Amino acid sequence: MSSENDYIMLSALQHYAYCPRQCALIHIEQQWAENRFTVEGDILHERVDSGEAESRGEYYSVRTIRLQSKALQITGVADLVEFRKDETGVPIPGKKGLWLPCPVEYKRGTKKADDWDRIQLCAQAICLEEMLQCTVPRGALWYQKDKHREWVTLDEALRAETAELARAANEFVAAGKTPKAEYSAKKCPRCSLLDVCQPKLPGSRREKLYYEEIFKAE
Ligand code: SF4
Repeated sequence: MSSENDYIMLSALQHYAYCPRQCALIHIEQQWAENRFTVEGDILHERVDSGEAESRGEYYSVRTIRLQSKALQITGVADLVEFRKDETGVPIPGKKGLWLPCPVEYKRGTKKADDWDRIQLCAQAICLEEMLQCTVPRGALWYQKDKHREWVTLDEALRAETAELARAANEFVAAGKTPKAEYSAKKCPRCSLLDVCQPKLPGSRREKLYYEEIFKAE
């Protein structure tokens, strides 16, 4: 039986969907490296992660909420959860009426064609539903570069896709095996682990460099 200590990080879903090797390097081997994209993302999240609540009329928001889902076996943090007065919502201590939660995830870049951002958002909503015992019908993605908020309906298809990805990512991390690198012209140049991974080198040369790097660090 799995314990809460076995839960994977919410971010592992996106890492696994982007590249299983990247997920293994980060969540199995605990490797991490900054590049321009992660640093810009961190600065954006630091601005959001003030931990403060804001209240205006029928709007209430809380930043940096810890999340967990037993169903998905994940744990993590939501950038921002907005609550709006709604009779299908949940009570908030010290406030009148019921309030419907809506997770808002901040992204550094622009809207993407793939579903990774929407899956991460849906996973946050499923955590909130479990923790607050309610239904979260939609979430929002804020794209910094576009200065655009995209509303995302959390329908059955997206929920099924999220559950399947969480199942596969949990299984993958539990197996503890790092797959070999396969260079992708679309993904690798943007990957923060490009220098650690060395996807263009032949396997034996790459492993040698990798071990040299580990011993240098020690
Ligand atoms: S550099 Fe490429 S193959 Fe290596 S982890 Fe990153 S995306 Fe995956």
